[in-house]
Amino acid sequence: MSRRYQARPVEPIKCRMPELPDVTVYVERLEDRLAGRALQRLRLLNPFVLRSVAPPLDAVAGRKVKGVRRMGKRIVFELEGALFLVLHLMIAGRLRWLAKNKKPPGRISLAALEFEDGTLIFTEAGTKRRASIHLVEGEAALAAMDPGGLEVLEAGPEEFAARLKADRHTLKRALTDPRLFSGIGNAYSDEILHRAKLSPFAQTSSLSDEDVKRLYDATRATLAEWTERLRREAGADFPEKVTAFREGMAVHGRFRKPCPVCGSPVQRIVYAENETNYCARCQTGGKILADRALSRLLKASWPRSIDELD
Ligand SMILES: [Zn+2]
Repeated sequence: MSRRYQARPVEPIKCRMPELPDVTVYVERLEDRLAGRALQRLRLLNPFVLRSVAPPLDAVAGRKVKGVRRMGKRIVFELEGALFLVLHLMIAGRLRWLAKNKKPPGRISLAALEFEDGTLIFTEAGTKRRASIHLVEGEAALAAMDPGGLEVLEAGPEEFAARLKADRHTLKRALTDPRLFSGIGNAYSDEILHRAKLSPFAQTSSLSDEDVKRLYDATRATLAEWTERLRREAGADFPEKVTAFREGMAVHGRFRKPCPVCGSPVQRIVYAENETNYCARCQTGGKILADRALSRLLKASWPRSIDELD
């Protein structure tokens, strides 16, 4: 990043990292559009987006897309010959479909995946270049990139409990750790914890069996309901509005607005570039954490930055 950008004030949080529901819908739309089709060429419009060295990028030319899948918060294109193209959107990375011969948008375009009748453009808004592409060969190389988080929608309550209690963390940290749980980030963890009526600061070790079961149910319900909702909104199109804070979220992005359950104003904790929201009445027994206690907690077990979150 160039020096002159560093003095700029921090921009208000406008977009967020796509998480399991968003990435799932992307993957479904991509699979529909691209499975069985040949990727004619992958053109880098910003060389820094490619983070792997072998195999060379021109190895993809002419190979058919066998399928598209999600790995954590990443999107994986499986190409013929066991080549895998792994895209991480990070915060501001997005995909859009351009009809044949349309020019990709200037500065923000990172890469163009060219198909016979159109081009998939990988863009990243803002000045930070975090979004990435890796090209790897073979399932083993792909698996090595997987942070290994549990797929909660496919897991039973015992597996969930074991992961959660494996280490002592705050709930916020545990839910958003990609090595523990797959595809959950800042936004949906806020929604999950509100639904489960649990404090983001609670320690995993202090949870009763009943709390853990409620958290398991809330996690599954939140992820499944949002996936369904985004799927309906996207229809047959690309999910263009994936970035926005969404109407219909209970607490995330709703600082000072009334909690939909009890009407109390939603609280916030600002850290690094993130903001966590919770309802004190529903989740922390009315307690708003004081600064000193908070900073202790933030040091001990809190996702320090977005980069740490996969
Ligand atoms: Zn409330």
